[in-house]
Amino acid sequence: MSNTTTFLNRNRAFASDFAAADLPLLPKLRTVILTCADARVDPAHVLGLDLGESAVIRNNGGRVTPEVVKEIAAMAFIVAKMDGDQPGPFELIIMQHTQCGAERFADPDVQRVLKEKLGVDVSSVAITDHEESLREDVERLRIATEIPGYVVVSGYIYDVKNGRVREVIVPASLTP
Ligand SMILES: [Zn+2]
Repeated sequence: MSNTTTFLNRNRAFASDFAAADLPLLPKLRTVILTCADARVDPAHVLGLDLGESAVIRNNGGRVTPEVVKEIAAMAFIVAKMDGDQPGPFELIIMQHTQCGAERFADPDVQRVLKEKLGVDVSSVAITDHEESLREDVERLRIATEIPGYVVVSGYIYDVKNGRVREVIVPASLTP
């Protein structure tokens, strides 16, 4: 059984009063949100995103990986090109969450099995302390030379038990 019928029906309802044909390519809020793939943590719901407001990157844990660095660098490059001589603001919001599956990656047995069976090394995306992971991720961005220093980064933890988002890292550009 597949869920496609449900989703296609929902899409028909969505498209029946579609009014977003003229949205610009650039996100209106000039923001990228990096968050976990967890189904409980959809930023459209949690942060009330409208269509066209923000780009969203999701992976296990909402962690900064080498792939995420490349994605953000490419986006920043394209946005700067569209801006012309004076690059405008570019903001990255990292939103991780409580009860994250990436906490299981901290278990050495899980790490060993994933490495053996799938050849995947999850040690760098494991979460043991949420605030620490956020700080580590901002540091990964700071030392990534591909990402321009004017990018403003902030870090948040979403609590899946009460729906609240808590600020851990206040917005600041990568290069002060
Ligand atoms: Zn998660």
